[in-house]
Amino acid sequence: MTTIQSPNLPLTNIFLCGSIISTVCVGIWLFRTMSRKRQELRVVMRSEFTNSFLLKFGYLLYINTPLGNYLFQKSVRRARRRFGNRGHSITQNHDYGELNVLPIAIAEDNYSYLVVDKTTMKGILIDPSDPDVVVGICKRLQVDLTAILCTHKHWDHAGGNKVIKHLFPKIQIFGSIEDKPLATTDFVRDGDSLSFDKMQFQVITTPGHTLGHCVFVLNGRPFNCPDHIFTGDLLFQGGMGKIFEGDHTLMIQSLDKIMMFNNNTLIWPGHEYSKHCLRFACYIDPDNVEAASRWDKVETLRRQALSSVPSTLGEEKAYNPFLRCDNAYLVKYCEIPEASENIRESCLRKLRLIKDNFDKMVKEETNKRRKNKSRML
Ligand SMILES: [Zn+2]
Repeated sequence: MTTIQSPNLPLTNIFLCGSIISTVCVGIWLFRTMSRKRQELRVVMRSEFTNSFLLKFGYLLYINTPLGNYLFQKSVRRARRRFGNRGHSITQNHDYGELNVLPIAIAEDNYSYLVVDKTTMKGILIDPSDPDVVVGICKRLQVDLTAILCTHKHWDHAGGNKVIKHLFPKIQIFGSIEDKPLATTDFVRDGDSLSFDKMQFQVITTPGHTLGHCVFVLNGRPFNCPDHIFTGDLLFQGGMGKIFEGDHTLMIQSLDKIMMFNNNTLIWPGHEYSKHCLRFACYIDPDNVEAASRWDKVETLRRQALSSVPSTLGEEKAYNPFLRCDNAYLVKYCEIPEASENIRESCLRKLRLIKDNFDKMVKEETNKRRKNKSRML
């Protein structure tokens, strides 16, 4: 009697089938997600953010899927292991009479801000992406949390909104209609005014980093202090944000909107990038005394892990290359012909390119130094 043995399906075939099925499933899910976000897809694909399709695709995954949140949470955990409770920077209260601004170190280099009117103890949060840290501080200071102002939709700025809304159901969350940051309750447009008793904020839309990026300008007059601009990822100390969804023309128009404020206006950026950005400012403009002096100051602060914010708009105008695209030296450095129609846009585009290469160079340098260090241990 003969027995028929069923052939053993080789393991590789099982793997192959599994891979094909999961690829198809992911493809269908992505297609459905992207179909819902067709306009966003068009915006990103047409943006000047690198010509690499893969990078653009990666960016779309970051903003539209849980991958972005996963990466941000990973960065939060990494920062906790590396810096402990103090975070990436030791921050301190900045008192302006009855107004208090507290920068809060989040993840590896983000800043959230808590703005408090000390007469009412009402508090406004800007980009509170790590609820554990932010809510803890608010409870300790006995602040009456009133609203969240969200500069843009990226997870490292808007990722905490949902949890905070769950903890404080009455809280209002303001964000732009174009970006629709997570859990937004009130959409804002360019020129809107938001008043919380004496705290009055003006919304200025500043597309470029994302299409719906906006900054919030706190009127200093009721507190007898300068105005404050919470710039998110538009402007850093000595630098500017990457252009993911816009182009250089949009970005320069957005920067111009900020340039019209008084020189003593305080700049509160969304990241502690000052040291690196100022290093670039000195690299590209070595004779700029203001850049050198600010870099020195920031290096001293950073050696003690102290926060470097804020700067003033007047200072930024003196050393931030991205605010100086009409500067004769920088225009020449970027090899922009004098007869060009859009000198400032061309200069900004070139500066951004040089900065991206500079970032790569510094990254390679740091990796090499780390390898040498570990070899010596
Ligand atoms: Zn961003």
